[in-house]
Amino acid sequence: MSAPLILTNVDNHFSSLGSEFYSLVRPQSLSNTHLIQANPALAQQLGIPADQLSSSSFISSFSGQQCPDNFQPLAMKYAGHQFGVYNPELGDGRGLLLAQLRDKHHQSWDIHLKGAGQTPYSRFADGRAVLRSSIREYLGGEALHHLGIASTRSLALFGSDTPVQRETEEQAALLVRVSQSHVRFGSFEWFHYTHRPQLVKKLADYVIDLHHQDLPQDESRYPLFLQRVAEKTAEMIAAWQSVGFTHGVMNTDNMSILGDTFDYGPYGFMDDYQPDFVCNHSDHQGRYAFNQQPGIGLWNLNALAHSLSSLISTEDINTALSRYEPHIKHCYATELSAKLGLAKPHDDDVMIAAQWLALLEKEHADYTRSFRALSQFDPQLPSEQQTLRNQFVDRQAFDQWAEAYRQRLAFETQDQQARQTLMNRHNPKYVLRNYLAQKAIELAEQQDYSEIDRLMTLLVNPYDEHPEYESYAQVPPDSAKGIALSCSS
Ligand code: AMP
Ligand code: MG
Repeated sequence: MSAPLILTNVDNHFSSLGSEFYSLVRPQSLSNTHLIQANPALAQQLGIPADQLSSSSFISSFSGQQCPDNFQPLAMKYAGHQFGVYNPELGDGRGLLLAQLRDKHHQSWDIHLKGAGQTPYSRFADGRAVLRSSIREYLGGEALHHLGIASTRSLALFGSDTPVQRETEEQAALLVRVSQSHVRFGSFEWFHYTHRPQLVKKLADYVIDLHHQDLPQDESRYPLFLQRVAEKTAEMIAAWQSVGFTHGVMNTDNMSILGDTFDYGPYGFMDDYQPDFVCNHSDHQGRYAFNQQPGIGLWNLNALAHSLSSLISTEDINTALSRYEPHIKHCYATELSAKLGLAKPHDDDVMIAAQWLALLEKEHADYTRSFRALSQFDPQLPSEQQTLRNQFVDRQAFDQWAEAYRQRLAFETQDQQARQTLMNRHNPKYVLRNYLAQKAIELAEQQDYSEIDRLMTLLVNPYDEHPEYESYAQVPPDSAKGIALSCSS
């Protein structure tokens, strides 16, 4: 076995919180661990030499085979509301916080290894992650990040020969996930429901001191902190809604305290625009359907606020949470305006956007392609001459909307080219459609990782044209439309 990597920027501050917050656990390695993908740009940012990524030192250090001496692997304890029901028995059941690093701007980053074996919080499960879900999380995190949406990142993906049993036998894999914090809403719930307000306070101070250094030192920091979490959560969910992303399992243990998209499971980007889209086939009630996400965000914030009630008065909680609804509406409306190429605000904008979405829904139109195609709309031409029109079955409905849009565009001062540029920066050409991820998974299960590389090329620059990859912007074949995915991972 090769010598572990020497990193001088390790700073494991989470462990200083004390043993109530975690259990020290050594990662359990897999058989024939090999590197599938690594992320040189992110490595560089973290102060890990990018030319080391395929070295055996990097692999053994970051896959948990032989951790460097200054790593301190631990399983974080948390609880959470799962599908609305409180569950105290959660925690890192298969992931470990391997280490925390400081980048050159002194920003702290958590290095988390998912699939590292059993911990005291594994309950009845095996502590492993399958290749399929690890690929999906690897790609999902980078896809959202490069769409400009707050998310955990992916540093490396490892494959192995270790079999794991799910519905069928699958291969175990490891994901190195990177985030500024792995503290969840559920981390606070655990200490609240076990009646330890001093530990709720300790955790809140830890998060504030690390991530909100501008907040005051006195008690007034706590309601301001809650308000920040509400705002960040609103921004994240508004961004999901605008790209047609459904998280799928918005339990409070999967909600990041920083408002990062967190714990990618059976998530999905919509193909046809369908507001009640449910991507998780175990979600029979549609609790986490696409159009429920903004409301669930608030439900989850209420659960967080409740667990902070020893620190914040009811009145201050209400004030902090009252920021959520106007903020998410504002963020979503602003983004929709940009997607429609409307740079100069006008009272009709929300209505124009709502009518466009209603048209897409009625037509079962592809969400991503329809928005992208709209930049070709020429306000100089009558509705009948718009190329886009041919995609609509109900031409009359299109004409009606197009006329309103044409009139609205006349109010703009930017020229056609500036409008197209704006729109193409807000309407991705390429999103991680499930059928594309599925193809990459099927090949990877045969040890062919080339499709992961190809998808990464697109997902890193999703707003560019990439003419050689035009087929990746196509709608899925009918057989692959709206695949609902299992939670089993
Ligand atoms: P998730 O649905 O992935 O957010 O996980 C919910 C809880 O179950 C967390 O406490 C996880 O750590 C735990 N968990 C999920 N899958 C496994 C597994 N294969 N082994 C151990 N714990 C797991
Ligand atoms: Mg989770």
